[in-house]
Amino acid sequence: MKIGVYICHCGTNIAATVDVNEVTKFAKNLSGVAISRDYVYMCSDPGQELIKKDILNAKLDRVVVASCSPRMHEVTFRGACEEVGLNGYCMEMANIREQCSWVHSDKEKATEKAKELVASAVAKASLLQPLEPMRVGVTPSALIIGGGIAGIQCALDIADAGFQVYLVEREPSVGGHMAQLDKTFPTLDCSACILTPKMADVARHKNIELVTYADVENVEGYIGNLKVVVRKKVRYVDEEKCTGCGYCAKVCPVTISNEFDMGLGTRKAAYIPFPQAVPLAYTLERAKCMGCALCEVVCEVGAINFEDDDEEIELEVGAIVVATGYDLFDPSLEPNYGYEYDRVITGLEFERLCNASGPTKGGIEINGKEPKDVVFISCVGSREKDVEGGKGNECCSRVCCMYIAKQAHLVKEQIPDANVTVFYTDVQAFGKGFEEFYWRVKEEGVNYIRRELKDEIKVEKKENGRLKVKTVREGRPIEKEADLVVLATGIVPRRDVSDLVRKLKITQSGDKFFLEAHPKLRPMDTLTDGIFITGCCQSPKDIPDSVAQASAAASRVCSILSQDYIEVEPIIAEVKEELCIGCGSCKEVCPFGAIELKEEERQFEEIVLRTRKSYVTPALCKGCGACIPECPVSAMTQKHFTSAQIEAMLRGVGVTA
Ligand SMILES: Cc1cc2nc3c(=O)[nH]c(=O)nc-3n(C[C@H](O)[C@H](O)[C@H](O)COP(=O)(O)OP(=O)(O)OC[C@H]3O[C@@H](n4cnc5c(N)ncnc54)[C@H](O)[C@@H]3O)c2cc1C
Repeated sequence: MKIGVYICHCGTNIAATVDVNEVTKFAKNLSGVAISRDYVYMCSDPGQELIKKDILNAKLDRVVVASCSPRMHEVTFRGACEEVGLNGYCMEMANIREQCSWVHSDKEKATEKAKELVASAVAKASLLQPLEPMRVGVTPSALIIGGGIAGIQCALDIADAGFQVYLVEREPSVGGHMAQLDKTFPTLDCSACILTPKMADVARHKNIELVTYADVENVEGYIGNLKVVVRKKVRYVDEEKCTGCGYCAKVCPVTISNEFDMGLGTRKAAYIPFPQAVPLAYTLERAKCMGCALCEVVCEVGAINFEDDDEEIELEVGAIVVATGYDLFDPSLEPNYGYEYDRVITGLEFERLCNASGPTKGGIEINGKEPKDVVFISCVGSREKDVEGGKGNECCSRVCCMYIAKQAHLVKEQIPDANVTVFYTDVQAFGKGFEEFYWRVKEEGVNYIRRELKDEIKVEKKENGRLKVKTVREGRPIEKEADLVVLATGIVPRRDVSDLVRKLKITQSGDKFFLEAHPKLRPMDTLTDGIFITGCCQSPKDIPDSVAQASAAASRVCSILSQDYIEVEPIIAEVKEELCIGCGSCKEVCPFGAIELKEEERQFEEIVLRTRKSYVTPALCKGCGACIPECPVSAMTQKHFTSAQIEAMLRGVGVTA
C-alpha cells in the first residue's frame, strides 16, 4: 500500500495554530506512507495538481488530505483522485481546521492533536475499499410546495426549462403574503401589479399543474424518484365550472371575519380570498355554511356540489422544492405591546388598511377616523436575545425596518399633517436602495427615536381611548401619545413546520427555519438529496432575495431533471445476510425508511423454513449509521465506515479498540 499525505495550511486558518511542517514530517514516518507534503491551499488548482502528479508518478493507491471539514471539500479531492484514475473513495480526509486549529489556541497541543488526526486517517486509509456510486433514473418533473412569490418564481423557471411542475398551495389561491401587501419597498411598486401577472402565468403555463387548497400527505422514495400523495380539500365548488361571477357570495347570508384582511374586514361563507385570486374559483366553507343552498340556486353554471369530497392525488416527481414561507410573531404573547387594544395593529394589518382592495378601500383609518398621531414600534418578536420575558426570535427579521419606512411614508403621503414617530432599536438598511429610501422618509418628516432593545416599551390605553407609548431614550423616560400604534412583528417559522420536516425528512436549524445543506455554498439544498428550500421558509428575507433564491433552487432542480440518471452516494448500510435474524430493530430506527424486512422460504427436505431478513434500498439509505449499533448480532455494517476501519482510526489516535 502506498499512501500520500497532503497537509493544507488553509492560508493561516490552519497554519497559525498548527505547526504544519512538523505534522508533515510526522506523517512521513507513519506505516504505509510513501509521500507527505504540505501546501498553502490544497484545494486550489496547484494543490490538486500536486496530489494528481504524485498519484501518477509515485503510483499512490491511497490518499489522505488533512485540511478542512469533508463537508467543504471531500467532493473536490475525490474528483482530483478520479481525474487520474484513483477511485475517489480511496481518499480519506482529516479535519484539522474545524476540529483542531479553529477550536484551539495552544499551538503545541493543537499540533499534537493534528498529528493524531492524521495518524487516524492514515490508519483508516490503508483499509479503504474502492466504491462505485449507484445510478438511479430520474422522473423529469418537480413538485413545489407553497405558492407564494418564491414558489411561483421557482415553478415558472422550472416549467420554462421544459419540465412538468406540480405547484401545491394550501390556500384557495396562490400569492402568499405578497398578495396582502400594498406597495413594496424601496421602489414603492404596487405589489399586486408585479405579483398578479406571475400568478396568471402560473395558471396558464402548459407545463404547470396548479393544485390549490391542498396539502402534501405523504412522501416516499429518493432523489429522481419521489412518490407524493396530495390531499385536495373539498371546495364544494367545481373549479372547472366556476366562472368567478360571485353570485354565490352575494346571496350567502353568512358573514364571517376575513382572514386575508387579517380580521379587519368580513367575507361570506362562499368566498374568494381576494379579487385577483388564482384560480378564480369560489370556495364554500362548510363549517360556517348554514346549508340554505341559495348559492346553488343562483349558480348559473351548476358549479356548487354539496356532495363533493376531498380528493387524493398521486404524483411522481424527480425533485421537490419547499417554499412554504413564514408566519408572523403573535404580539399578544408580549402584553406590554397592548395588542388587545383596537388602535394597536400589526404591520400586515396596516398593509390591508392602506390597500385599495382592503376593508377600508385604502383609507388609513381607525374606527372610521384618520389617525393624526401614528407610532411605529420596531423589532416586535425579533432580536429578542436579551429582552426580558421575550418570546420571539433571536434573529433579525430583515424586512421590518424597511416596511416601517414604507408604511411611515404611506401615512405621510395620505395624511400629510400626521405626526409619525418610529421607535427603533437599529435601522438595518442593507439592500439596494434601502439606505436612500430610509433617508428620504426621514426627510419627509418622520421622527425616528432610538431605544435600547433591553429597555421595555409599553403601550397603554388612556381614558379618552387614545394610546400612550412609554419607553426610554438615552436613559431618560419618554412618552408619546398616539391614535394608532403599528407593531412591526417579526417573521417566524410556519407554526406547523414540524409536519413537513417529518414528511420530507428534512431538518430545521436552531431557529426552527428549514436547515440548508451549507449556509454559504448550498443555501437552497437540504441534507436530503433532491429536496430544496427557498424563500422565507429558509430564513426571513424580502421579495428580491426570495425571488433570487427561487431561481437558484429552480436551476438546481433543472440540473437533476435534465439527466437520464443521477449518481447517489455508495456510503450506505449493508446487511450480512448470513448473520441477520430478521428482528427488525434496524428497520425501526431507520429515519429514511430505507430498510425493509423480506420473507424468504427455504426447503429442508420435508420442512419449509420461513425466515425474515433485512434489506436495504440503496437509493434511500443516507448512510447515517443509526441501524449499525441497533443490530443485536452485528449483521449491519456500513460501507466506508466498517468496524475494522473505525477500530483502525481509534488505534491511530492512541485509543485501543
Ligand atoms: C408587513 C410586511 C410587509 C412587507 N413588505 C415588503 C416589501 O415592501 N418589500 C419586500 O421586498 N418584502 C416585503 N415583505 C416580505 C415579503 O412578504 C416576503 O419576502 C415574501 O412574501 C416571501 O415569500 P415566500 O414565498 O417565501 O413566502 P409566503 O409569502 O409566506 O408564501 C408561502 C406560501 O406557501 C403556502 N404554504 C404554507 N405552508 C404550506 C404547506 N404546508 N403546503 C402548501 N402550501 C403551503 C402559503 O399558503 C403561502 O401561499 C413584507 C413582509 C411583511 C410581514
